[in-house]
Amino acid sequence: MKSFSERRIAILGRGIAGLALAYRLLQKGLQPTIFGAHADSASRCAQGVVSNKGLLFFESPLFAAKLTSLSHVQKWLDELERVSGQSISRSFEGISEPYWDAEDFQSLIARIYRRHFLGCHRTENRAYDRHQAWPFLSKEPKGYLFYPADGWFDVDEALNALAEFSRQNGAVTFERQVLAIAPAGDGSLHLCDSSGEGHYFDQVVLATGAATPDILKSLLSHLPKMFLIGGQTLDLNLPYSSDSALLQVRKTMSAIWWKSQLRIGASSWKGMAINPLALEEDRNQLLMKAGGCFGWDPQSLPVESITQRIGTRLRFADRMPGVGSIPFAPWQEKIFLCTGFYKNGLQLADLCAQDLVALLQGEAESVRYPAFSPSRFFSN
Ligand SMILES: Cc1cc2nc3c(=O)[nH]c(=O)nc-3n(C[C@H](O)[C@H](O)[C@H](O)COP(=O)(O)OP(=O)(O)OC[C@H]3O[C@@H](n4cnc5c(N)ncnc54)[C@H](O)[C@@H]3O)c2cc1C
Repeated sequence: MKSFSERRIAILGRGIAGLALAYRLLQKGLQPTIFGAHADSASRCAQGVVSNKGLLFFESPLFAAKLTSLSHVQKWLDELERVSGQSISRSFEGISEPYWDAEDFQSLIARIYRRHFLGCHRTENRAYDRHQAWPFLSKEPKGYLFYPADGWFDVDEALNALAEFSRQNGAVTFERQVLAIAPAGDGSLHLCDSSGEGHYFDQVVLATGAATPDILKSLLSHLPKMFLIGGQTLDLNLPYSSDSALLQVRKTMSAIWWKSQLRIGASSWKGMAINPLALEEDRNQLLMKAGGCFGWDPQSLPVESITQRIGTRLRFADRMPGVGSIPFAPWQEKIFLCTGFYKNGLQLADLCAQDLVALLQGEAESVRYPAFSPSRFFSN
């Protein structure tokens, strides 16, 4: 194997996983080549909410990483702004979850006090305050659970900052998909892209989100269990404006009101999102559900226009990402995964990128989340 700094590394994917990895490689002085479509990613559909909703499961590596990520992501965004010269809108002053009556309060608490629950991370129970409420409420909540460590950032702006940093620092980006990967005679890998061009690399990272199962099918005879989950985000333009971001979650739903935009979405929306014919019905269902969750009457919300974005994310059976090399020949130490982020890509992308860089450098002992290794899929 060539020394780290001499290696030709390809990243397939321009979502948050691929661009975060490119950022960390560039910082180590290595210039990766990045493939993928600018717009075609779950990352560009995300609401941008970074929320653990007070949940702590210390024994779960996923939750340990999520907890670390809440403070890490803020420092990372500060750093990205500084190095890229691009601003990233964000707010980390906490997120509220409304409840409507005593029974509803009990149902929220029952949800967080389920099996394995060990404590609510600094969660507060706050009274309803008219001055801090949405101006378009049609019913008033009894109170809120408040999660002070949680927040939100504008994902598009963060991705643009990462892409700008890559460009300024000499990473080559191809607006193309990779169609085939094959071993080349000299021990390298041959990639054929969607324009028919061929490329040779020493190592390839699949940060390919929902496209990962299709790519793995062409490489492996035995596939890990994978699920594709659709989701949608709606941006509603309103005639009101808020200078500070107002953030709320309600079970799997989230709502962010900032400037004149109200952004709503569901982290586990199982509507018909993937079927284009059902888009309008899906949008209306989400509007209705959000109205019920957050106390608006969707019919009387003064919406001027709506932008709908749909995306698909990948989940492995245990909900943890896959970060590391495919653990057997001919791909071992040549093809790496950085995928399967499911609902948590915005929180975990940079922590996982740092682990992957450590693995590429042969420093497995520095990996913080060894439980995310793809070896777990192939151990039996
Ligand atoms: C509607 C919605 C809302 C969400 N909201 C939130 C949220 O509020 N908070 C949160 O933490 N998470 C949220 N998520 C989840 C989050 O978006 C994902 O966890 C994260 O974006 C996954 O990033 P990724 O880089 O792994 O994949 P993606 O962003 O999907 O990127 C995959 C990339 O791979 C590229 N690619 C695919 N095939 C190839 C190929 N053959 N060759 C080259 N490139 C290829 C694609 O072009 C794309 O650039 C949401 C997801 C959706 C869909």
